[in-house]
Amino acid sequence: MPITHSPASDRKYWDEALETQSRADWDALKLRLLQAHLAHAYAHSPYYRASFDAAGVHPEQVRSLADIRRFPFIDKKILRDRQIAVPPFGDLVAVPERDIVYISASSGSTGVPTASPFTAGDFADWIDYEARQFWSSGLRPEDRYCHSLNFSLFVGGPCVLGAQKLGALSIHAGTVPSERLLAIAGQFGATAIWTTPSYAWYLGETAIKEGIDPKKDLSIRRIFVAGEPGGSIPETRQRIEALWGASVYDYYGLSDIFGACAGMCEEKHGLHWAEDHILVEVLDPESGEPVAEGERGELVLTTLKKSARPMIRFRTGDIVSFTGEPCACGRTAQRMLGTHGRLDDMLIIKGVNIFPSDVEAIARKDRELTGEYRLVVERENHLDILTVEVERAAADASQDAALAERFAGHLKSVTGISARVTILPPDALPRATHKAKRVEDRRSGVWG
Ligand SMILES: [Zn+2]
Repeated sequence: MPITHSPASDRKYWDEALETQSRADWDALKLRLLQAHLAHAYAHSPYYRASFDAAGVHPEQVRSLADIRRFPFIDKKILRDRQIAVPPFGDLVAVPERDIVYISASSGSTGVPTASPFTAGDFADWIDYEARQFWSSGLRPEDRYCHSLNFSLFVGGPCVLGAQKLGALSIHAGTVPSERLLAIAGQFGATAIWTTPSYAWYLGETAIKEGIDPKKDLSIRRIFVAGEPGGSIPETRQRIEALWGASVYDYYGLSDIFGACAGMCEEKHGLHWAEDHILVEVLDPESGEPVAEGERGELVLTTLKKSARPMIRFRTGDIVSFTGEPCACGRTAQRMLGTHGRLDDMLIIKGVNIFPSDVEAIARKDRELTGEYRLVVERENHLDILTVEVERAAADASQDAALAERFAGHLKSVTGISARVTILPPDALPRATHKAKRVEDRRSGVWG
């Protein structure tokens, strides 16, 4: 039956029985789904059949969720190689092409774009749980939701249909110039918007430059962000919240699986996973062993229902941590505390691992800085030298030495790394309108 009227706004959960079930029930559900999904992959995908056979594993051997660890990993390179070998979608696909109704594709910034196919059932499942995630973040049928993500093959595009499904007025704005986006948000009285964290900030600053006070002149009270580690950093969210007078909710998705696979509830402490769709592992990138709660590891994902192209143990390259504590919202789905960065972004300086997000948290906390930052890594006399460039908020340069000393002290206490700190005037660093590039690693001679 199609939904012809919106659900009551005072309903706390989208699907209470599912969302508040015990951890034991979650595990039992996931095991059932995993067994069926692996059997589907083995029966219908030539790649998985060959790969499981080569590893000496069979879906029928799966008796517990931990048994997933006997199965081989896949990664972006395998997706790309198989897609080239068996065009157009590769032989990880496990349905006839006539059943595929939608594809998303990665941006291709790191190579050939990989296409992610969906059946009509996969697509409907995805939109339903998007609605569930939005509901958990407090979006309601009374909201006017402005979706300003790219629609061109980008998996973030159709997420707007989740807002529409829960009954919110959904404004399909797409990626338009900021002045136009501000005009759309103003004209339709948008109460919620989705962008990247750096763009949310840029948009707020642009509004102020145009004489619009985001807090008073616009009605946006919820901002959904994804695509950068910034959304996981409380200091960054708080800065955006102060600029807009709005609540910021971090979401996580990836082009090769789904849009938002995990999102923040109204407690805003960690992102709940859609565990009926995704089996989550957080592993030490070197040993492949699970990391302890609170520790950082690589996120490895296995789909549980997506029939068009099952993803079994996909190494995302994202470094995350998770918490096992119960959430005050009453939802029992696992939470990750956030994404710290890409494995590729991790800098090793004098043998210490550091992510740009570690520096960001410090830059955003100091209200005498604008919060913009850049890391420059060089090698002098065989030693790694980290220089952090930040901007002072005031025009006056008289406090620069004290600001630099304070910043260096915070950085040293948080990361253990000593850095040179350069204080720049406001607006000296380039503003990002999409994904921010914040590291220049000059050690290899290549500006990364
Ligand atoms: Zn929660």
